[in-house]
Amino acid sequence: MTAKITVIPGDGIGPEITREAVLTLQAAAERFGHTFAFTEALMGGIAIDQTGVPLPDGTVSLCRESDAVLLGAVGGPKWESLPGHLRPEAGLLGIRAALGLYANLRPAVLHKALRDACPLRSELAGDGFDLMIVRELTGGIYFGERGREGNAAFDTERYTVSEIERIGRVGFEQARLRRGKLCSVDKANVLETSRLWREVMHRLRGDYPDVEYRDMLVDNAAMQLVRDPRQFDVIVTSNLFGDILSDEASMLTGSIGMLPSASLGEGSFGLYEPIHGSAPDIAGTNRANPIAAILSAAMLLRSSLGLPAEAAAIEAAVAEAFSQGLRTGDIMGEGCRLAGTAEMGGAVRDAL
Ligand code: NAD
Repeated sequence: MTAKITVIPGDGIGPEITREAVLTLQAAAERFGHTFAFTEALMGGIAIDQTGVPLPDGTVSLCRESDAVLLGAVGGPKWESLPGHLRPEAGLLGIRAALGLYANLRPAVLHKALRDACPLRSELAGDGFDLMIVRELTGGIYFGERGREGNAAFDTERYTVSEIERIGRVGFEQARLRRGKLCSVDKANVLETSRLWREVMHRLRGDYPDVEYRDMLVDNAAMQLVRDPRQFDVIVTSNLFGDILSDEASMLTGSIGMLPSASLGEGSFGLYEPIHGSAPDIAGTNRANPIAAILSAAMLLRSSLGLPAEAAAIEAAVAEAFSQGLRTGDIMGEGCRLAGTAEMGGAVRDAL
């Protein structure tokens, strides 16, 4: 197949890690006989320096014309004193809104080879775990009415049936692509929005009889994640709960440099990025872990280009590189060999 991919390297370690991800996509294209056309676009601090704004219009239109977007990371101390709407991070929120990306998928996978990086006792994490959090990204309390009244402040959680339905379906569809289990997380014993959430999810359930479904209250979910992460396959939840639970889950995998994410809207188009930031403290030193970016590229192949075998080949190549004992500094373990960003990426491509 042929596909158009927009690449937004961004700031800090962004260019170093996206380079490895693009080279890996090129290697996959070669191996499987595809043609991917890559076009670079500006966003974040580098866009501020070159154009005066964090998200130039040209970047949005380039993204709209492509099949998928691969993003590095944005931000850094150089732009921290700018007003909010002109800071690099405004580019991130802007692009998600402009492209209608309402579903955020965050897999949290603990590889067997990285068992020592997990803060849980070995009997809790076993040989590793593999779960996916599907977070609603454009509704809920982050977007509701907020304000101050005298000595008080308020934020409002609001969800419509259609907002819940569309994210709920993403949850069920993801479960179908994985081990067929979906856990919907809410706070239906207290919150009205959660009661509506649960009603809608129960209605949707009829359309997915092949998916094993259950509800869980968010306080229990936070506890179950550290008690027994292996019980979960896909978790679907609201913007606020998803924000918190996905950070909790990511910590269980050891390093922030390992975790990819996808943001999806209608159709197959999506934006793929590591969950970490631009890590200015290690930028330009060839020390960044490129695996989160490489695994984001694998998600791009699976979710936007419909190439699951190619995605699985990249994921297997990552596992193979780890099994050879190669590690970047953030996941370094006893008896392993320290690799730089480029060497780690190269080992994945060799395995591919
Ligand atoms: P960060 O994720 O950039 O870094 C946190 C720590 O993790 C640092 O010590 C860093 O060296 C380390 N780290 C991060 N990614 C790594 C990798 N791939 N390999 C090895 N180590 C890695 O978070 P921060 O320091 O809070 O933020 C730095 C900048 O990034 C800020 O300007 C922030 O606003 C921005 N940021 C951007 C995004 C994004 O673009 N999606 C997300 C979060 C933060």
